[in-house]
Amino acid sequence: MTQPNRTLHDLTRNLATFDPEALPVDRAQAIINAFVTPVQAIEQVALRSALDRILARDIVSPISVPSHDNSAMDGYALRGSDLRADQAVTLEVVGTAFAGGTDRVTVLSGQCLRIMTGAVMPTDCDTVIPQEFTDVGDKRITIAAGIVRPGDNRRFAGEDLQAGSVALAAGTIIRPADLGLLASLGVAEVPVRRRLRVAFFSTGNELRSIGEVLDPGCVYDSNRYTLFGMLSRLGCDLIDMGVVKDDEASLEAAMRMACESADAIITSGGVSVGAADYTRQIMARLGDVGFWKIGMRPGRPMAFGQVTSNGKSAYLFGLPGNPVAVMVTFYFIARAALLRMMGATDTPLPMLQASSQAPIRKKPGRTEYQRGIVSRNDAGRMQVRITGAQGSGILRSMTEANCMVVLHDAQGNVNAGDMVDVVLFDGLE
Ligand code: AMP
Ligand code: MG
Repeated sequence: MTQPNRTLHDLTRNLATFDPEALPVDRAQAIINAFVTPVQAIEQVALRSALDRILARDIVSPISVPSHDNSAMDGYALRGSDLRADQAVTLEVVGTAFAGGTDRVTVLSGQCLRIMTGAVMPTDCDTVIPQEFTDVGDKRITIAAGIVRPGDNRRFAGEDLQAGSVALAAGTIIRPADLGLLASLGVAEVPVRRRLRVAFFSTGNELRSIGEVLDPGCVYDSNRYTLFGMLSRLGCDLIDMGVVKDDEASLEAAMRMACESADAIITSGGVSVGAADYTRQIMARLGDVGFWKIGMRPGRPMAFGQVTSNGKSAYLFGLPGNPVAVMVTFYFIARAALLRMMGATDTPLPMLQASSQAPIRKKPGRTEYQRGIVSRNDAGRMQVRITGAQGSGILRSMTEANCMVVLHDAQGNVNAGDMVDVVLFDGLE
C-alpha cells in the first residue's frame, strides 16, 4: 500500500477545531477519508468476475449502442409524412424486417414495412405503428387518424451509448446493470482494482470462540461474525485472526502479523480506557494512531491511524467492543473509508425519510443511530418505529431492524409524526 505523505498527526494538527475528546461524526469521516489512499494494483478479469469489483479505468465505448436506428415495437415502419391528422390512411405492405435481418427494403410514400422489435429501420422511415393499433393486413394496413405521431416507436442509433463516450467511469462499483452494459459493448475483460485485504480480530479475555466452553463470566465472540458479514458484502479479502488475549505479547504479535499481511486492520474492543486493556498501548507503539471520542451513539471510543511493522504498513480501525457499536462504527465510519481504499468513488449511503411512529428522546450534540423498522402506513407513506431496547450490547435490536434511524448532531427530541432520516439495510442489489 502506498504511504500517505503526511501523518495523521499532521493532518489533525492543522485543523482549527480538532478535539479528539469530542469529534463530530462528519469530522471523523472527513479526516479518515483524507488520510486513506486507494490500492493501486489493477487486475484484468473476465466480465462475470467483475461483479461487485471496482472499475480501475474508464471504459470508453468502442461502438454506438444500438448501432442502427431500430424499431421499439412489433408493427409497421412508415414515413411519418404519410400520416394525416384528420383522416385514416391505408398503406401497402412491401415486406418484413426481422431483428438481425440484413435485407434493406426501400419504402416509398404510401408504403410500409412489417417490422419486428429491434429490426433496423428502413431508410426514409421514421415511425412505427404498433401492430395492435392496426388491422394487421397482409397486403395493406389501415391506420386511424391521430393514433400515432411521426417519430413514434423508433430507437435512435447511439441512444444508449455513443461510440467514444465514457460508458462507465473508473471508481464505479460494478453492478448487474453494468455487466450488461459492458456486454452490450462487446467487452470481454474488465480492469478492476485488486481486492482490499482486511485483517480483523477481537480482543478481550472474556471472549470465547464458537466450539469452546463458555466459562463463567465469558461471552462468545460475535464481532468477528458481524465483521465477516459486513466485510464480505463489501468484497474484501479477509484474514480472520481470531480472538486475541488482552496481553501485551499476544496483541503485539497479532497486530504485527496483521500489519504485514493486510491493507487494513479492524479490531474490536479495548479502545475505551479500561485498566486491563493493552490494545491502546500496542496500537500507539506500532504507529501513528489517534484515540478519539466520537460524538455518536452507540460507538463513542474509536482508534484510527496507521501502524507499521517490518516496513509494511496498514490502516487501523480500532472499533469499540460492544456488538452494536461495532456495526454502527463500521457502517458509518469505516465503510466509506474502506470503499475509498478499494478505489470506489461516490459511495454515500442513500438516506430516505420516514415519519416516526412514536416520540424518540435525543440529546443535541451527538449523532444517534437507532435501529428501526420501516413500513408503509395506511396512506402508503413510509413510517418507522424503533426496535425494542437500544443498548449498544443488544445485537437483537439489529437483527430485528430493517433500517438505521439517523438522528443528526443538532437534532433534539423527535415527536411522533416528525420526519426522520433512515438508511435501509437492504436495497435491490
Ligand atoms: P470493550 O470495548 O473491550 O470494553 O468491550 C465492551 C463490551 O463489549 C464488553 O461487554 C465486552 O464483553 C463486549 N465485547 C467486546 N468484544 C466482543 C466480541 N468480540 N463479541 C461480543 N462481545 C464483545
Ligand atoms: Mg475489552
